[in-house]
Amino acid sequence: MKSLFLYARKSTDVEDKQVLSIDAQLTELREFASREGIGIVAELIEKQSAKTPGRPIFDAMLKRIEAGEAEGILAWHPDRLARNSVDGGRIIYMLDTQLIRTLKFPRSWFENTPQGKLMLHNDFGFSKYYVDSLSENTKRGLREKVRRGEFPGRAGFGYLNDYRTKKLVVDRARAPLVKEVFERYAAGDATLDTLRQFLYERGLRSSTGKSVGRSFVSQLLSNPIYYGHFLYAGEVHEGSHEPIITKALFDQVDAVLNRRWRYSPAEKENAPKALLGLLRCAECGGGITGEIQKGHTYYRCTKKNKAQRCRQPYVREEALATQLSALLQPYALRLDWADAMLSRVKEEKRKVAQSAAQLAAQKQAEIEKLNLRLQRLLDSFLDELIDRDTFTVEKAKIMSQKKTLEEQRTRLMAGRADWLEPFQKWVLAAKNAGKTAVSGSLSQKRVLALEVFGSNLVLDGKKARGSCVKPWSFLGENLQTGGVVPVAGLEPTRRFTVPGF
Ligand SMILES: [Zn+2]
Repeated sequence: MKSLFLYARKSTDVEDKQVLSIDAQLTELREFASREGIGIVAELIEKQSAKTPGRPIFDAMLKRIEAGEAEGILAWHPDRLARNSVDGGRIIYMLDTQLIRTLKFPRSWFENTPQGKLMLHNDFGFSKYYVDSLSENTKRGLREKVRRGEFPGRAGFGYLNDYRTKKLVVDRARAPLVKEVFERYAAGDATLDTLRQFLYERGLRSSTGKSVGRSFVSQLLSNPIYYGHFLYAGEVHEGSHEPIITKALFDQVDAVLNRRWRYSPAEKENAPKALLGLLRCAECGGGITGEIQKGHTYYRCTKKNKAQRCRQPYVREEALATQLSALLQPYALRLDWADAMLSRVKEEKRKVAQSAAQLAAQKQAEIEKLNLRLQRLLDSFLDELIDRDTFTVEKAKIMSQKKTLEEQRTRLMAGRADWLEPFQKWVLAAKNAGKTAVSGSLSQKRVLALEVFGSNLVLDGKKARGSCVKPWSFLGENLQTGGVVPVAGLEPTRRFTVPGF
């Protein structure tokens, strides 16, 4: 009488749908064993897939066979034993070396002869082919999904996978956090660390229960999924999911990220040197660094320019802050004036709305052009006129432009005047400038100074100076003339003077 291990494996794989349940396998195998006069050494039940090597019970069984505990295996079908070439190869090798003397399958013929092993090869091979073609099918399925604009992976922060429709849906609990992270960063005074802290305070934890890492925040801030696109296989695709933020907000964040990149010293998180990244040395053009001595912060030239010996002295933070306040104050817009301008902007917006439809049609035409360019780009790629790298880079560029245009079109159709937005924003900033100059925090002053002076501020003999950038020059010029220069179309109806000048 032969003694074999009875091995049953659960159907965990999609393609195993026709496979009997464990109980049914066991019943059939026990009946087969008693009919054929096979002794069962042990009944072993595995719950893991056989697609990849490494099943604990299967592995232990082969060891016990090597140790001589049984002559072979009884299983329902060869595909219960192996669906990968490693495990299949091990069994055939053990048959070759007589470690396994026999295999029995109620539904499949086998004997340990060259023909039998060839059949087994086929059975395993067929299984392997099945797995291979399944993963090919899966890939094809993913590509189809991507073409329909459906993100094919697990939803990231702010989204959920809807298991019914297989689509991404907005996570109503977390999406507001995503939006706020973008808004805070776009405002210019948040850092990756303050945003981590913010998310922590709102209850977000890493897998170890701590606050999320900086990379989590920086990846979030650069993920196009939040404005409606997504990356798949290195390519940008239009998503069919609902965006959480606008492309415009994403671009603002991008601009801040780029500025931070240039002024990398300022990104040193938690540095108490709040005014870094704002000034350059007037003498040698070097960057300004800060250091703390006896409880005070001092700023000075980095003196990295080897060709020129810079003699610029230190300046204390308090002195610099006072100077900044004085520099900023002239750029405060009188409150009644600001309000008059704001109501004028409102009026302009109403007028603009009337011609918005026409502009929207223009944007639509530009979008069509970009669609054509995308098509041509794809054709060039498929005709192998350009390589994959060029294709993905160019595609990303065009897609980004397209999204911007689409948002502008949408806003125009809603009757909004895009070009007035920056102006309105400026009026609001200028309205608040006085308060910031007098009583703002150092970092608020820094942000405002960057807006007003761009990168024009220099430190010259302990004194900060520099010229403002547009549109602040509008207020700056008034200082020299001592009055108000009317701006065509947008001047307030009465003439105001800037207070204090
Ligand atoms: Zn210098």
